[in-house]
Amino acid sequence: RTRVLTGITTSGTPHLGNYAGAIRPALEASRDPSVESFYFLADYHALIKVMDPARVQRSTLEIAASWLACGLDPSQAWFYRQSDIPEIPELTWLLTCIAGKGILNRAHAYKASVDKNREAGEDDDAGITAGLFMYPVLMAADILIFNAQKVPVGRDQIQHIEMARDFGQRFNHLFGEHFTLPEAAIEQHVATLPGLDGRKMSKSYDNVIPLFAPREQLKKLIYSIVTDSRAPGEPKDADTSNVFQLFQAFSSRQQADDMRRAFESGIAWGEAKQALFDRIDAEISPMREKYETLVAKPADIEATLRDGAARLRIAYATPLLAQLREAVGLRDLS
Ligand code: ATP
Repeated sequence: RTRVLTGITTSGTPHLGNYAGAIRPALEASRDPSVESFYFLADYHALIKVMDPARVQRSTLEIAASWLACGLDPSQAWFYRQSDIPEIPELTWLLTCIAGKGILNRAHAYKASVDKNREAGEDDDAGITAGLFMYPVLMAADILIFNAQKVPVGRDQIQHIEMARDFGQRFNHLFGEHFTLPEAAIEQHVATLPGLDGRKMSKSYDNVIPLFAPREQLKKLIYSIVTDSRAPGEPKDADTSNVFQLFQAFSSRQQADDMRRAFESGIAWGEAKQALFDRIDAEISPMREKYETLVAKPADIEATLRDGAARLRIAYATPLLAQLREAVGLRDLS
């Protein structure tokens, strides 16, 4: 079967972008019997951005409960927390020792931080941690430890998959064929959803619509989406509208075409937002009750995650790491 890997960083409350961009397409893909799915909570990655332990813990619970409420069946797919697999940081070190520093210098996230520093007249590396710099190596370990073949990503992540391929290939070249080289599966039809302020909806910005916000809050947030000041009756541009982009992610082709025409003929913003609320609520509310039950039982979630990680280590991570340790000349731990 083709191994497909999807992770969400435990850096905050999961939002509509995580759902439409990762959870929904990943669960749809897993219905194909030729796919072996790996879903993980990227909590080591969260530490790069978040220094608030309570937030990381809360986010872990919320993201795990979200996957389950949306239909993930832990008996049919691998579902685990990154930090429950100690082989991942160990592989990270093995890869660190062969990863070209020059390649990491070119990673987008690192370069963007350097550029920001330059604009502000600061030293290139001011305030940049080694964690941010090394993030592509940790991501390569996430993928290579399970020899995942496909990693569905947005365009901005293609570079990181290429780095994982590069590190895997280099390791194979030096120490023998241990890794299958992963491929990025570009999700052409999955759009990046805008947040309330029009920037990318992101846990790191204060602009998200939480996936399982209670109904009233969902409505309030949708009504607070930034729009232009065109009055009712004035034609509106669907392509540049945050409201339309969100609508499109939660509706059929037909419904989106109808809404596009309504924009052209001047639908009032209030009316468009009400229609958006109706669409999102129709899709989310059947899962919301399940989410609320799950999130109220952290011990059950904890048991599910630990069980997933324990089985996965036995099946893949521990034997592969033993093989890798031997390949590089480290002691046999068994
Ligand atoms: P965030 O900024 O919210 O932390 P992220 O993109 O930095 O999100 P992750 O939490 O790792 O990082 O994202 C998990 C998944 O959710 C990824 O597949 C990512 O592409 C997807 N995703 C995140 N934000 C959006 C968005 N606004 N629209 C569509 N997909 C998104």
